[in-house]
Amino acid sequence: MHAWPFPPPLNPVESPAMHDVRVNLSPPYPILIDGGLLKRIGQMAILGLGKKVGVVIDANIFDSHGQTLLRSLADAKIEALHVILQPGEQHKTITDILPAYDRFLGAKIERRTPIISLGGGMITDMGGFIAATLLRGLPLIQVPTTLLAMVDASVGGKTGVNHAMGKNLIGAFHQPSCVLIDPQTLRTLPARELRSGLAECIKHEIIRDADGFADLERNLPRALDLDMEYLELLITHNVTIKARVVEADPFEKGERAHLNFGHTFGHAIETIFDYAYSHGECVALGMVAASRLAVELKMLDTIALERIINLIKRAELPVGGLKIDDLDRVLDAMFFDKKVSSGKLRFILPDRIGHVVIRADVPYPLVRQALQSLRG
Ligand code: NAD
Repeated sequence: MHAWPFPPPLNPVESPAMHDVRVNLSPPYPILIDGGLLKRIGQMAILGLGKKVGVVIDANIFDSHGQTLLRSLADAKIEALHVILQPGEQHKTITDILPAYDRFLGAKIERRTPIISLGGGMITDMGGFIAATLLRGLPLIQVPTTLLAMVDASVGGKTGVNHAMGKNLIGAFHQPSCVLIDPQTLRTLPARELRSGLAECIKHEIIRDADGFADLERNLPRALDLDMEYLELLITHNVTIKARVVEADPFEKGERAHLNFGHTFGHAIETIFDYAYSHGECVALGMVAASRLAVELKMLDTIALERIINLIKRAELPVGGLKIDDLDRVLDAMFFDKKVSSGKLRFILPDRIGHVVIRADVPYPLVRQALQSLRG
């Protein structure tokens, strides 16, 4: 366990098992990982949060984790102004967050009032965007409740909402002041959503850590079985990878784009299929297509490709079977995506497990072929 930067820690005697990862930006912020953390947030809030907070909660977990959080805040005599957001990517729009602005402004929140987002990546993105834009920026506390949001979306300050023309096209960079992860909240998560989060874990290992990839190959069944001891380690390892990438490039001017491995194909699939596939499933499909592309470009060997596809399959994520009637529509969506730089599609491609490079020179027919391989 490392020293707590700010605000002060829970008593370590009270919580000896807490993992603490620091994101070294200016200012730095902590990511705390500990089973049962959710019900202690009120105590922690009293240490640094003041007397009033805004809370944005996913409707699906309002009666469970939402109540735990609100009770914890109430016990600490903190006034919680809460707003419930409807789940589902179709509700991740600018219109859906307007009631939150009304509620928080109506209650006269101030510049120091923190916003707490409780939910999956959709809610941490939306809560983050609300915090980024209200009064030109409020403190933000991310409390992710899906594996995907724990290991990826809640860390790094990318916030936003979708537009009809594509995912996350409206947004802002706004770093949280801390991220609080209670892996116990994963006990209520549908299995499909857990697997979706595993797609981002696999992504992190492919882009940065060959040993981590091998470890996940060995221990995947423990993750699928919700072995909490392993999940805490897996989450800690993954947020550390994410934190290091974000620190090196907070505004995605360079290497942070590595985190988009699988996303160039993935986002287009997500949009074209109108969110029938979860984000993680689209990333899984995108990683398969991108890895095949890397083999075609003679960057990656076929043994590595097989290991990647095999791990994705074992995580019970899709590796094909897409019913794409019109490939050109997906290609159009890829070109429209905001990651297109000066008219050229940029791909994040692995040249070995644990390392990726950015390529903007991939011939169009190979892109088409990689996409086609996801059919059938
Ligand atoms: P999500 O937030 O839509 O949650 C998935 C489902 O799980 C929802 O139905 C939700 O209601 C439910 N849920 C959440 N927590 C639960 C719990 N503990 N128990 C039971 N049900 C629970 O999806 P997600 O996969 O967490 O996140 C995907 C979103 O994250 C996308 O919008 C994507 O764009 C975004 N994202 C952002 C970043 C970033 O850096 N900002 C990175 C990756 C993904």
